[in-house]
Amino acid sequence: MSKAGGPTFEANLARLQPLLAALKNDGIGHLINGRRVESQTTFETISPTDLSVIARVAQGTAEDIDRAAQAAKAAFKPWSKWPVEKRRAILHKIADGIEANAEEIAILESWDTGQAYRFMSKAAVRAAENFRFFADRVIEARDGRSMPTPDHWNVSTRVPIGPVGIITPWNTPFMLSTWKIAPALAAGCTVVHKPAEWSPVTANILARICREAGLPDGVLNTVHGLGEEAGKALTEHPDIKAIGFVGESATGSAIMRQGSATLKRVHFELGGKNPVIVFDDAALDRALDAVVFMIYSLNGERCTSSSRLLVQESIAEAFSARIVERVRRIKVGHPLDPATELGPLIHARHHAKVCSFFAAAKEEGAIIAAGGAPHAGPGGGHFVEPTLFTGADMAMRIAREEIFGPVLTVIPFKDEADAIRIANDVRYGLTGYVWTNDMGRALRVADELEAGMIWLNSENVRHLPTPFGGMKDSGIGRDGGDYSFDFYMETKNICLAKGTHSIPKLGA
Ligand code: NAD
Repeated sequence: MSKAGGPTFEANLARLQPLLAALKNDGIGHLINGRRVESQTTFETISPTDLSVIARVAQGTAEDIDRAAQAAKAAFKPWSKWPVEKRRAILHKIADGIEANAEEIAILESWDTGQAYRFMSKAAVRAAENFRFFADRVIEARDGRSMPTPDHWNVSTRVPIGPVGIITPWNTPFMLSTWKIAPALAAGCTVVHKPAEWSPVTANILARICREAGLPDGVLNTVHGLGEEAGKALTEHPDIKAIGFVGESATGSAIMRQGSATLKRVHFELGGKNPVIVFDDAALDRALDAVVFMIYSLNGERCTSSSRLLVQESIAEAFSARIVERVRRIKVGHPLDPATELGPLIHARHHAKVCSFFAAAKEEGAIIAAGGAPHAGPGGGHFVEPTLFTGADMAMRIAREEIFGPVLTVIPFKDEADAIRIANDVRYGLTGYVWTNDMGRALRVADELEAGMIWLNSENVRHLPTPFGGMKDSGIGRDGGDYSFDFYMETKNICLAKGTHSIPKLGA
């Protein structure tokens, strides 16, 4: 036991070993129609901590996607007709299975992605919550509205759209995939899931848990592979009716093009360059905790991270100095060490991208107030120092582009109007965070911010019924509660006549 009561670093390492041995031995195949399927070609998934090969992974082709789509198509009608109580029960059973396997999921997810164990242990729990939340809403998924007129009664209802494709990214992949797959299954859809090629390990655990819970063959199919190959084929498949996608904005554009021939319905959760605005009257101790947490947790590889700190000029210097103190004490280390706060970044390519912004900051004339270099973490992996840039303005790339790492850019502002102008001066619009004790101002700023989700005097705290999604280049559509059902289902109106209206008579 660690001091906090959880497992120790040594215990986590010991648990990892047999899991790795099994993965090395078995490799990772696709799971199509309840069976393991191989591809002729494989790729390696690499640990970002010590660069060792974790497993060889089947590299799905258009043929593999076609098989999975056929299985999802065949399973669709029977699954969509399952009695709701039965469907509710099986989704709860899947949640039970996730909870029972939470340790294995947390350890493998940490090892595969480099995310610190302290966050991944909670991610598995949240994944179970996603299943429970949508399990309890199965019963109302088909609900609609009643819209009477004097002569007719209109009643709307919803029906599942059909087999859907879910394409997920590498940041917190297990939790994120449940966020998409649970509502799709609750709605009565069948699923072909294409996990990210940089983090394929835990997707098969979810498929295994679903199968053990009794989910019929073909209802959830997992096809591994590259985005441009398996991902593209999924978005182009005529039997796949919708694509739920989480990833980069540029990939969202590509998917829209690829899906156009088959008129794919799309739901996109894309990138962000989210502002946290701190006014001089804010509760600064709480604001400091939230600012630091929202960029340096989860390696900063977090779509909702507040990567731009907009701070009022009068307090900018003092507040930045307090952040520097904190940043210098953030514990960079082995992701399986429960004390670690910042693990290695996912991949060499992503590491190079994040590090390229250190040079950009210097060239653009910003100040590197903390960090700003690769970090020699244990194992020789893709570690970086948590970094703070100050003296930035909106002309700089560090203020405009999504870095997706533990890197915060501080931009001072004069007054409320200036804060709003700077906050909205980016192509993205996912989240915004505002810190002030003037509630009128908080509400005015919230109303003006071009973002899908705003938190006032709070970090990102998720409440599952609320709409989740972004404006501008950050996304299309909303997830959460009933919003998810709107995406995975078609709305149908049924109009009943009372027999009172006159019908136009032609040829009478
Ligand atoms: P990515 O777009 O590179 O990849 C995401 C997925 O898309 C992967 O499974 C990949 O294989 C697949 N893909 C790539 N090209 C494809 C194509 N042409 N057709 C079909 N599929 C394709 O994103 P990433 O680097 O894995 O993830 C990081 C990004 O995700 C960041 O921009 C982050 O902000 C975003 N993100 C957004 C949210 C949100 O809710 N808005 C949540 C998490 C991550």
